[in-house]
Amino acid sequence: MSVLEILTIPDKRLKHNSSTVKNFGESLKHIVQNMFDTLYASGNGIGLAAPQVGIEKRIVVIDLKEDGKSSPKIFINPKIINSSKDHAINEEGCLSIPGYYADIERPKFVDVEWNDLKGKKIEGSFSGLLSICIQHEIDHLNGILFIDYLSNLKRRRAYEKVKKSQKKNNEKTP
Ligand code: ZN
Repeated sequence: MSVLEILTIPDKRLKHNSSTVKNFGESLKHIVQNMFDTLYASGNGIGLAAPQVGIEKRIVVIDLKEDGKSSPKIFINPKIINSSKDHAINEEGCLSIPGYYADIERPKFVDVEWNDLKGKKIEGSFSGLLSICIQHEIDHLNGILFIDYLSNLKRRRAYEKVKKSQKKNNEKTP
């Protein structure tokens, strides 16, 4: 079990495109376990993509912890194959952009195709928070952050906010 360091903006690695997982062995299971450890250690996170911990592979873990109940979900090589014309606006945040939240518009429903830990292909339709979360995490695999959908002004504010909070943290740690 290990908690990995979560990269925060403006780390350039967050803008990279991650590569497809081809080996469904022990090392993949190990990465997924560490990602869940990191997600749970974050306290408020509900999803994590591998590039956020410096692993440039198409792996996503999600646990919405709805009604206080844990329901871990693993998506290897997730891909959106269909999205609804209906859009919705919801507030989003990101473990790589701590302390910053903004309203983001996305398709309400998505159909997703992915592999499980053994490489088996699975398909599912998502709505609500899970739909938002999987879209947000798949964006990470393509080097896209939710602030990329915002105006330059708002995006700059996000960078400043993260910089300020990091400065504060650094001052606290001798
Ligand atoms: Zn994120």
